Amino acid sequence: MASSAANLEDVPSVDLMTELLRRMKCSTKPDKRLILVGPPGSGKGTQSPIIKDEYCLCHLATGDMLRAAVAAKTPLGIKAKEAMETGQLVSDDLVVGIIDEAIKKPSCQKGFILDGFPRTVVQAEKLDEMLQKQGAKIDKVLNFAIDDAILEERITGRWVHPSSGRTYHTKYAPPKVPGVDDVSGEALIQRKDDTAEVLKSRLEAFHRQTEPVIDYYGKKGAVANIHAEKPPKEVTTEVLKVLSS
Ligand code: ADP
Ligand code: AMP
Repeated sequence: MASSAANLEDVPSVDLMTELLRRMKCSTKPDKRLILVGPPGSGKGTQSPIIKDEYCLCHLATGDMLRAAVAAKTPLGIKAKEAMETGQLVSDDLVVGIIDEAIKKPSCQKGFILDGFPRTVVQAEKLDEMLQKQGAKIDKVLNFAIDDAILEERITGRWVHPSSGRTYHTKYAPPKVPGVDDVSGEALIQRKDDTAEVLKSRLEAFHRQTEPVIDYYGKKGAVANIHAEKPPKEVTTEVLKVLSS
C-alpha cells in the first residue's frame, strides 16, 4: 500500500500551501475547550464554524451526530429517533458515549467546541470526569441568552445542508438560490423537529434540564453571557471578544 506521504505528490501545490499556512496559523493559537449552550435556534450552529476556524478546534454537535445515526439506522440512531422527533432529550449514556469517543479524534487536538452538549447536569459531571482523566478542563461556557419569543421564527425559517451542517434562514441568512447550498449546490432540507409544535417540547426540555447546566458552570466561574438576539455579525464580534479575553 502506498504511504500517505507518497500520495502528497498528487496534492495540488495550492492546496498544500493553504494547509501549511493553516497549520502555521494554528500553531500560534491557544488550546480551547468550549461549550456553547442555548435554546434551539439561539445561533450556536451559526457561530461554531467561525470559532472553529479562528481557534483551529473541532466542532462537535451532538444533534448532528445523532441525526446522522438516525439516518444510517445504526443501533444508536434507532434508540435516539423517538425522543428526537418529539423534542425530548435522548438518554445521558447515549450522548456521553459519543462525546467520549469524539473528543479523542486528532482534529480535536487543539481543543473543541461542544454544541448542544452537555444538556443535563449529569452530562456535565460525566464530561468533567472525562476531562479530569486527561488533566484538562472546560475553559469557557458561552451562554447564548435569548428570549423564547424570538425562536419560533428562527426555527421555522431554518434550512440546513445536512452533510456540512451549514445553516441558512429564509429571512436572516438566505442561500443564493432558495433550497440550494451555496457551496456544494446540493439540496437543503428542513429538520423534522423544526416545527412550532415540537419547538415547545424542546424549549421545555431546555428550561427544565439544560438551564441548570448554566448554573453548574456559573459556580465554577466559566460562563460568559452572549446577547444572542443581536444580528449574526454582532454576535460574532461579541463571541470573539469574550474568547480573546
Ligand atoms: P442553533 O444551532 O442554536 O439551534 P442556528 O445557528 O442553527 O441555531 O440558528 C437557527 C436559525 O436562525 C438559522 O436558520 C440561522 O440562520 C438563524 N440565525 C442564527 N443566528 C442568527 C441571528 N443572530 N439573527 C438572526 N437569525 C439567526
Ligand atoms: P439539536 O440539533 O441540538 O437541536 O438536537 C436535536 C435533538 O437531538 C434534541 O432535541 C435531542 O432529542 C437530541 N440531543 C442532541 N444533543 C443532546 C444531548 N446532549 N442530550 C440529549 N439529547 C440530545
